[in-house]
Amino acid sequence: MVVETNQIVRRNRPGTKANDWCKWPDESFEEMESTLAVQQFIQQAIKRDFNNVEEILTAPEGQDEGVWKYEHLRQFCMELNGLAVKLQLECNPETCTQMTATEQWIFLCAAHKNPKECSAIDYTRHTLDGAACLLNSNKYFPSRVSIKEASVSKLGSVSRRVYRIFSHAYFHHRTLFNEYENETALCKRFTTFVIKYNLMAKDYLIVPILEEQFSGNGSASVGASGGGDENGSFVAYQPGGAAAAGSVAGDDGSIVDETMIGNA
Ligand SMILES: [Zn+2]
Ligand SMILES: [Zn+2]
Repeated sequence: MVVETNQIVRRNRPGTKANDWCKWPDESFEEMESTLAVQQFIQQAIKRDFNNVEEILTAPEGQDEGVWKYEHLRQFCMELNGLAVKLQLECNPETCTQMTATEQWIFLCAAHKNPKECSAIDYTRHTLDGAACLLNSNKYFPSRVSIKEASVSKLGSVSRRVYRIFSHAYFHHRTLFNEYENETALCKRFTTFVIKYNLMAKDYLIVPILEEQFSGNGSASVGASGGGDENGSFVAYQPGGAAAAGSVAGDDGSIVDETMIGNA
């Protein structure tokens, strides 16, 4: 005789049909018992409606903010791998020899001892690998329940580096970018996330994906802040370029991983 239980197993068994993939009922945050509850909570919200960026980025009551930011960034990196897979179809070292977005900057790949000019697709792979290594590192992130303030400060530079994958895709592989964005709203979510938690200066956010980025004269550059942010004099994109020179140190003040094209 078969004993029926109401136990829900939230796991995809071998042979699960696409239709049934992850098809289990939502669970409230209080009911989630594993140490991966925050990740589960975030993934559940994405699955419910990936377009509802506001809800996905709203932390449960009393949630530690460091852990919340950390888990979101992990999720972004995982999903960015999906964009990387698409990029591989048309972004290759022969056509995209350097990691660029607009004409203004070449981004250096910080995955190497001395940052170097990897091709765009290599930059993408190396940077996602590097981000995964850092976010899984026992040294900086030994726990997913509480996170040291010194480690939280790493999240800004990871964000800045992986963001360039969006900007390259947007400016050089627009069809593909749009396809992926329609399926995931990932760039919109990422942009909202880094603004909400102050992880990147607005001047770096050159993909015009939020309505507020269209306000003003329609330029992708956010002119209002004038570069006077925590990154000192760095301006990511400024038509005309005259004011764009200056310090290019990263927001962690360590690695210089941008270089100006042309008369720098
Ligand atoms: Zn490319
Ligand atoms: Zn590289």
